[in-house]
Amino acid sequence: TKWVYAFGDGKADGDASMRNLLGGKGANLAEMSSIGLPVPPGFTVTTEVCTYFYANGHKYPSDLKAQVDAAVEHMGKIMGAKLGDPKNPLLVSVRSGARVSMPGMMDTVLNLGLNPETVEGVIKLTNNPRFAWDSYRRFVQMYSNVVLGLEHHDFEEIIEAAKEAKGVELDTELDADDLKALTVKFKALVQKKLGKPFPDTVEDQLWGGIGAVFSSWMCQRAQTYRRLNKIPGDWGTAVNVQAMVFGNRGETSATGVAFTRDPATGENYLYGEYLINAQGEDVVAGIRTPQPITKLVRERQGGKLPSMQEAMPKMYDELFAIGQKLEHHFKEVQDVEFTIQEGKLWMLQCRAGKRTAKAALKIAVDLVNEGLINKETAVQRVDPSALDQLLHPTLDPKAPKTKYTTGLAASPGAAIGEAVFTADEAEKLANDGHDVILVRVETSPEDIHGMHAAKGIVTARGGMTSHAAVVARGMGRPCVAGCGNLRVDYDKKQMTVGDKVIKQGEVITIDGSAGVVYVGRVSMQNPELTGDFNTLMEWADSIRKLKVYTNADTPTDAKTARSFGAQGIGLCRTEHMFFEGDRIVSVRQMILAETVEEREKALAHLLPMQRGDFEEIFRVMDGLPVIIRLLDPPLHEFLPHKDVEYEAVAKQAGISIEKLKAKSATLHEFNPMLGHRGIRLGVTYPEITAMQARAVIEAAVNVENEGIKVDAEIMIPIVAWKQELDLAADIIKKVAEDVKKEKGKLPNFKIGTMIELPRAALQAGKLAETAQFFSFGTNDLTQTTCGISRDDAGPFLTDYQVKGLLMRDPFVSIDRDGVGELMAIAAERGKKTRPEIEIGICGEHGGDPNSIELCAQIGLNYVSCSPFRVPVARLAAAQAAL
Ligand code: ADP
Ligand code: MG
Ligand code: MG
Repeated sequence: TKWVYAFGDGKADGDASMRNLLGGKGANLAEMSSIGLPVPPGFTVTTEVCTYFYANGHKYPSDLKAQVDAAVEHMGKIMGAKLGDPKNPLLVSVRSGARVSMPGMMDTVLNLGLNPETVEGVIKLTNNPRFAWDSYRRFVQMYSNVVLGLEHHDFEEIIEAAKEAKGVELDTELDADDLKALTVKFKALVQKKLGKPFPDTVEDQLWGGIGAVFSSWMCQRAQTYRRLNKIPGDWGTAVNVQAMVFGNRGETSATGVAFTRDPATGENYLYGEYLINAQGEDVVAGIRTPQPITKLVRERQGGKLPSMQEAMPKMYDELFAIGQKLEHHFKEVQDVEFTIQEGKLWMLQCRAGKRTAKAALKIAVDLVNEGLINKETAVQRVDPSALDQLLHPTLDPKAPKTKYTTGLAASPGAAIGEAVFTADEAEKLANDGHDVILVRVETSPEDIHGMHAAKGIVTARGGMTSHAAVVARGMGRPCVAGCGNLRVDYDKKQMTVGDKVIKQGEVITIDGSAGVVYVGRVSMQNPELTGDFNTLMEWADSIRKLKVYTNADTPTDAKTARSFGAQGIGLCRTEHMFFEGDRIVSVRQMILAETVEEREKALAHLLPMQRGDFEEIFRVMDGLPVIIRLLDPPLHEFLPHKDVEYEAVAKQAGISIEKLKAKSATLHEFNPMLGHRGIRLGVTYPEITAMQARAVIEAAVNVENEGIKVDAEIMIPIVAWKQELDLAADIIKKVAEDVKKEKGKLPNFKIGTMIELPRAALQAGKLAETAQFFSFGTNDLTQTTCGISRDDAGPFLTDYQVKGLLMRDPFVSIDRDGVGELMAIAAERGKKTRPEIEIGICGEHGGDPNSIELCAQIGLNYVSCSPFRVPVARLAAAQAAL
């Protein structure tokens, strides 16, 4: 088996299409090398070796070593150097690289190959002892941390002590002797902590490095990242070994990262940061503050230090040209890592650039206009879930605000929450239902769970490409990074700016689009959608086959949803209307009624109110389908549960407290989810069904009489038997006849059923004899199919995901094998009985892209979701059609 793929010198064994085998980094290094870009030579050990490694008790295939040796020798030839040669040593980096990039998840070891002999060789060759010792001490530090598992801060402490003893502030102020002394101290620390020496044999170093990358695939933070991003654990990582190039060889050397377009806005210019005389991780680690690549960005930020375009114009031009070449080659915006060694530019990585939703839209539309991609590709380039970012409110510019601190606008959007200072605390409070903002000096991969739980992130240190910034953008969390004057005190659980202290739990507001943190709560306003948004949505609409409806209970929701492009209401919940104003009084009288007459009296009160609601919704929807679900929840949900409330309610209802309590007790259910709800209420109290049907039908007649078209659809919930549906349908038809007699006409209306019980799904063929439409209530269908109570599932379903038993929470994304199959069966049987039947989905899943794909596959007519998810669903439906 070929386990090792070489690249460099204008050639490569692999290419960009081999990302599964070579990982994203390795595949793209190969591609860049073969299209003639300056890539330091190296080789990739495949992901299959990783799989082998875990399947065989952490052992390698027997023929791997020979292949690695040959590849090392080959890259040495290209570089004119040799690993471990004291006179002419080759130094390498060992880099991980999974199929998809996992920022900060896997660690890289730089400068591997240094030992007491080779460091002397480097000194002779470069005539630069400081550089040699700086490289060596970095290597010992990184290797000890990444491969040997020692704590990073133990080394930082030694450096701090050295700087203090010398009375200097910056690493760069340490000279060769200082760095040599550091190296010796570092190695002594390793001996002390591990009871064995730091490896000086380059062979051991190399295999230690390779083993560490493979092992890191299973480390906790990598697993967390995979779980959050739904990356299968069996993909494995590749290892890249690459000849080192040095950005820390003086003032004509540098290192940096760049995006071919601005990842926050999508604007077309080289965007990024660089550091002169620095190596690799210095840029992302947030230790020194990097400078912008382009002059334009420096000017916008008001920076004093020169941009790369100004300081190194020739290098800038070269980088720009390479960026253009890569964009045209991949037909996609690229995120590149580069290093300049003494005036020569080297490319170390390229990949599709992560971007905000706003940038994604602009870039997709621009690339179509530039002729690089077509509309179908553009539609596939934007992650539907990311649109959420755009659809949510931003800070109201006119609202009064008290500025607390400013930093970089690292990830757009606004958020309000309680300040918390540790990831664990953030997660805990968020689980208890609090909105939190995670505030850290800087974030690291250990903080991922807290960043995920938080509404927004603030850091005191770090640039636009710091860990916090990159991860926040990826997750769609607003982030303000690098607030220079912010002091975070983890012990006291507080932060300070000057003398203004904010303690844990105090509310702050952040604006990630402007890079500002405010004290307290600042009011928000609704988003304005740009031209790019509408353009992409139009393209999506021209591609998709599924219609997109919305779940809306009020005319306001209906209006919002229509402005987002909803083509109907897939679920209008009538019970929500029961809580409006003092209607609840009549609702309670209806529930507490002892006789049918009493109940009808109370219902007569409710009728005009419900009718009025429906009329308004019909007017807003102007002829689009409106699916109204009859009363669904168990009646005790409308009764008081607290002692203090009984008195008032009893008085309102005109009965004694004792009677009220007794009634409440009889309505108590052990398992309300499976209790007296839905059509079961209609079986017991047909007059409720009749009132609601009358409200709908009268409203439809009235609005039609105004000259507005109406498409009213009455939906029966929790149906298991056809007999239940028939009973409801008979009541509704009877009401319709009465209305016809009274008003002289019958409006346009349909009767249909929800499919939310397995029995209903299986009996769909029979139900379709009566039902003119089906709507999958996938929340209940998931509960009843999996036998998991949705309200109790949170804590234990997390364990399922942590243990890798389930990739997705079935309440977020439809369980395709179980619930999905029932849906497919129901759709098929329903259509067999009634070919023209309309079938859709109105559960929470209707706005989930993965579930929408399933709905398209099983041939549904529409999905219905909450108003803000409508654009998400439109785009997801288009992607499902491609
Ligand atoms: P990550 O996946 O975390 O980005 P990388 O493998 O890309 O890790 O390495 C991080 C950084 O280390 C790179 O951006 C680059 O600056 C530096 N680096 C890696 N390999 C080399 C190399 N061969 N020569 C110089 N710098 C390197
Ligand atoms: Mg890294
Ligand atoms: Mg990288």
